Order: sequence, then C-alpha cells, then structure tokens
Amino acid sequence: MSAPLLKVAGLVKHFPIKGGWLGREVERVHAVDGVDFALAAGETLGLVGESGCGKSTTGRCILRLIEPTAGEVTFDGRSVTGADRDELRALARRMQIVFQDPYASLDPRMTVGAIVGEALTIHKLTTGPAAYRDRIVELLETVGLSADHLRRFPHEFSGGQRQRIGIARALAVQPSLLVCDEAVSALDVSIQAQVINLLEDLQSRFGLAYIFIAHDLSVVEHISDRVAVMYLGRIVEIAPARELYANPRHPYTEALLAAVPIPDPQVKRVRIPLQGDVPSPIHPPSGCHFHTRCPIANAGACRGERPLLREIGPGHSVACHLRG
Ligand code: SF4
Repeated sequence: MSAPLLKVAGLVKHFPIKGGWLGREVERVHAVDGVDFALAAGETLGLVGESGCGKSTTGRCILRLIEPTAGEVTFDGRSVTGADRDELRALARRMQIVFQDPYASLDPRMTVGAIVGEALTIHKLTTGPAAYRDRIVELLETVGLSADHLRRFPHEFSGGQRQRIGIARALAVQPSLLVCDEAVSALDVSIQAQVINLLEDLQSRFGLAYIFIAHDLSVVEHISDRVAVMYLGRIVEIAPARELYANPRHPYTEALLAAVPIPDPQVKRVRIPLQGDVPSPIHPPSGCHFHTRCPIANAGACRGERPLLREIGPGHSVACHLRG
C-alpha cells in the first residue's frame, strides 16, 4: 500500500467503572485492546464482529468522538490523537461519520435543509443565501433526494431516506473518509442494498474511503475491499474480502461465516456452533480472548499467551497460535 490515508496503531480504549463512596475506579471495560490497521484513499475496510466487540468504539476513537486511552491515529500524515482543538476541527472536515439510527442522529426539530446545511454554516463553506440553498439542493440530489424535501422534518421520511439525509449531511464538508457505523443494519434488506449501492456510487464519484462497521459478514461482503474481524477488542483476522470469504483461517471468522445464510439451497456449509456468549469485556479471558469459545483451543498457549496478528499470505493476517 502507498502512504495510507489513515493509520491506526496500538489503539486502546478502556472505560472506567466507578463505584463506592469516593467514586473511585473499581473496574475497567476493555472495549478496544490494541488495534492496528491502515486504510488507503478510496478503499473500503469492513469492520465486523458481534455486538460489544469494540468495532463502534474503534470508529469513534479514530474520529476522537471518544478519547482513546492509548495509541496513535494518523490521517493524511497528521496526528489525530495529538491534534489540539483547532487542528481537530480542521480534521473533522475530512473525516465524517454516518450513524446506525438516522432518526436518533437527526434533530427532529430541524428541517432537512437546516440539518444538511449546518456544517456549511459552521465551516463557512458557502457565501450568501442563494449559494447556501443551491449547495444543500445539490447535496440532497447527490443522495437521491430532491429540493422538495428541503422544508420537511426527519419524521416525514422512511428509514432509508433518513439514512440518505445523514449521508448528505456527512458529504457537506467534502470528506475523504466516512465511518459508516452500522449505517445499514437497521434497514430492510432491499433498502440496505439501495444504500450500499449509493455508497459505492459516491465512492467512485468522490474517491471516498470507508470504514464500514457491521455485525454481519454478509452485509460487508460486497462493499469491502478488505475485511477485519474483531473479537473482544482485538482484530483477529484481516484480509482482502475475497480471500477472507474463500479462505478464512481464524476459528471465529469460520464460525461467523458458517452462520451466514446461503441463498442457493444446493450449497451446504458446515455449521460451527459458537459456544456460549461473548465473555465480559470487564474481565476478558487470558491469552487468546477467544479460547473460552474456540472449538480447537488447547490448554497451553491458547490460555496463556496473546496471539499476535501474523501475515500468512499477501495482505492476510491472523491472530491464532494454531492456524497459519
Ligand atoms: Fe482458538 Fe487458540 Fe487460535 Fe485462540 S489461539 S483462536 S483459542 S486455537
């Protein structure tokens, strides 16, 4: 990869749990536990894992919507983690987020025009009311809406349309990176496909890079150039999308893939049942976090030693003592 647009190194986020009379820290939620990856301009990285694996926290730490506990994030050669308020404001123009629940993330008292135009005002991106209105209409048309929608309120739109409004709002500042945080997870399958097609179209028009966060491997398959699988705060496997789906190496990736329904009834997949639930991120298992659910775990290295991501093929890395 040439100089990456985004570099994430050793990212850690622990949330303190306070208790007692003095409100001292008594426990920690290990939400993100040492995440590393890079993303090229115009590339899409799917970030996948069960609920609570730290994927959304990773996305928010990259944008510093949440302050990381440790680690380094670099965007286009500039440190995000070391940025002061002014630098962060400038960086926010280049990195935007689209949230899962467009209704909760859109102010119900604001018209669609005001929602999409807010960033134009904050960043002083247009001069005069006519240019302001024209730009909002242009943004709405870019996402498949129209000038007729300007004066309407979020509750007047369907879920898919509300997500288009969220995307138009993110595009207003002409970003280079969009973090799509479960952006299609709440939508019906047919609407999901429409929003994914829109995102792909926007990517080819504007050269956007995406971090596409989802809990389901089937959702990210078609949009992702590469896919990273997370478990309890760590990336356990990362590979080009085609390679990951054809040749998964980590037992957790295998189990997630085995759970993806196949439309062709002739094709059978061996089901690999995942035992139990995801352990608590307050007391994650020792060694390999996955050892309590792994069908091939051993009592030695798996319990005692953290497996590091090792490259096992071009662009394909896996964190497992027994698989290579
Ligand atoms: Fe399973 Fe051990 Fe590999 Fe972890 S390191 S995934 S427990 S085999």
